[in-house]
Amino acid sequence: MASSQSDGSSSYSQHSSRSPIPYRVGPFDYQSAVMCDCRVKAAWWISWSPDNPSRRYFKCRNAQEGGCGFYAWYDGPTTTFIREVLNDLRDAVWSARREKERLVWLSKKRG
Ligand SMILES: [Zn+2]
Repeated sequence: MASSQSDGSSSYSQHSSRSPIPYRVGPFDYQSAVMCDCRVKAAWWISWSPDNPSRRYFKCRNAQEGGCGFYAWYDGPTTTFIREVLNDLRDAVWSARREKERLVWLSKKRG
């Protein structure tokens, strides 16, 4: 159990580094546990894919090691307009982050 906990937190940090917004709650900090077929609490993530930006879903916490394939949407689909706005905002945050990283790298390089 302890090892699956640390696996969960490592995939959490990978997810949060890709997410354009900070997660307000951790992937397991929700009530009324949703159990996957491994009989453990499923992780609650936010999708940032182009088709489903900011849509929350449950996924098997062992998915990176195979897991049981459990996957379920929490939120319903949104409108095309909202989806496009969210994708534009997501891309703006990502490009601002890349630009910031580039400027930090350049300033370090110059000493
Ligand atoms: Zn599972």
